[in-house]
Amino acid sequence: MRKDVTVRIKNKFGKKYRQGYPLIFKEAIINLDDLKEEGSLVTLTDESGSYLGTGYYGLQNKGFGWVLSRKEKEKIDKTFFEKKIQSALRVRSKFFEDRATTAFRVFNGEGDGIGGFTIDFYDGYYLINWYSEGIYTFKNEVVNSLEKLVDFKGIYEKKRFNTEGKYIEDDDFVTGERGEFPLLVQENGINFATDLNEGAMTGVFLDQRDVRRTIRDKYAQGKTVLNTFSYTGAFSVAAAIGGAAKTTSVDVANRSLQKTIEQFSVNGIDYEAQEIIVEDAFHYFKYAKKKEKKFDLVILDPPSFARTKKVKFSAAKDYKKLLKEAAEITEKGGVIVASTNFSGFGMGKFKQFAEEAFKELGEKYKIAEEFSLPEDFRTVKEYPEGNYLKVLFLQKL
Ligand code: SAH
Repeated sequence: MRKDVTVRIKNKFGKKYRQGYPLIFKEAIINLDDLKEEGSLVTLTDESGSYLGTGYYGLQNKGFGWVLSRKEKEKIDKTFFEKKIQSALRVRSKFFEDRATTAFRVFNGEGDGIGGFTIDFYDGYYLINWYSEGIYTFKNEVVNSLEKLVDFKGIYEKKRFNTEGKYIEDDDFVTGERGEFPLLVQENGINFATDLNEGAMTGVFLDQRDVRRTIRDKYAQGKTVLNTFSYTGAFSVAAAIGGAAKTTSVDVANRSLQKTIEQFSVNGIDYEAQEIIVEDAFHYFKYAKKKEKKFDLVILDPPSFARTKKVKFSAAKDYKKLLKEAAEITEKGGVIVASTNFSGFGMGKFKQFAEEAFKELGEKYKIAEEFSLPEDFRTVKEYPEGNYLKVLFLQKL
């Protein structure tokens, strides 16, 4: 039986929860010690015992669990999960109908009413990401809902339980038939080779779909492109398909070379005409500056925190410096695509980094495009932190 705990919320946070804030966070809780078993159902009340909401206890990097309902009578059971997943599927109907895009998000945690897990669609396969032991105790509810609501080839999962959100290595197959990997998916007509059972990542970050399309359709034709922190080279592929004169992909991970070759190849692009470099991006910037190399389009997509032997990077502290280094090797009139998925600052702060970076260099720029999460990565206005993606296209004037 699932345990039931009452959690008392400090009065000063009562209003926040009454207005629909979904995250149960430490500072708000009075009786923290009563939270013992992950997956327990939690009744939130204010200090005088008035009902605020119902949620569950699940420890993740963001907090202590999520509010699921603000109706005291509502049961958190099979039907509850099924209804939320069903309405999430319904609002993605146009994605299911789009033959040129066969990979997208179908359930985005708190944005679809249940924080702590997400579900992505990969051409007939479903991939569930679990962010805490607590939400994982609802695995049957989620998997059974999918079994009832959709036709699928197979279901896979990623366990990202520990509080750093790190992935636990495992066989990620859940049910149905096993996929044959690489699994080829399409995105606005671009092919991507993916693998649902190889480590934490699948080969493509679905939240950058609109950015890739914009690069391909508006910013690539005839341009020299430097893609740093390139992973499997997805941005380079989009640029090459968009007619780039040449792409250069730089990533420090050894695996990126083979993976990038693969992404070019599944799109019929000769990878030998492109440059793929396994190196620390920060070194590459120094090298390019020294050699006076310049690019028309420079893409920056660093992890929020990165540490190599020589360099330590944190988006919050070092993004401005990164922008300056990029701007120094960008042609006049050229564009920097600056991206970050760090939820610790918002778009305003990110724009401020750009402002300061160009000011310190004595250069002028304009913001040519601006992106946050795409439509399938649904978010709710009560939890703006959930909209973590920030992408700016900065044109150097
Ligand atoms: N832009 C990619 C995703 C980037 S994920 C895409 O659109 O698919 C972040 C990548 O940064 C990882 O592949 C990681 O290997 C790489 N990375 C981390 N530190 C780095 C460094 N110092 N130099 C270059 N790459 C780095």
